[in-house]
Amino acid sequence: MLLITCPFCGQRPEIEFAYGGEAHIARAADPRATSDEAWTEYLYVRGNARGLHAERWRHIRGCGRFFNALRDTVTDHFVATYKMGEARPDRTEGKQP
Ligand SMILES: [Zn+2]
Repeated sequence: MLLITCPFCGQRPEIEFAYGGEAHIARAADPRATSDEAWTEYLYVRGNARGLHAERWRHIRGCGRFFNALRDTVTDHFVATYKMGEARPDRTEGKQP
């Protein structure tokens, strides 16, 4: 069973969580001044990394809070989890604490 560490609740089974898409996607400060191409990229274009990927997750069957995670898409291994608003950990490999 895959275990994911919620930054608020601790380690829980993966069935308690829901994937929320790529992390750190910033909305334009003034969407009216944004070009159609930039707006389209914001809405639809996402990375498809092989290896470490920053993702949003929600502990939907626990505290209900969103958090970010670094997950290796090759091994499905969670390298780190961190609260929303915190900087992405500077990790390239390793196990989740
Ligand atoms: Zn939680």
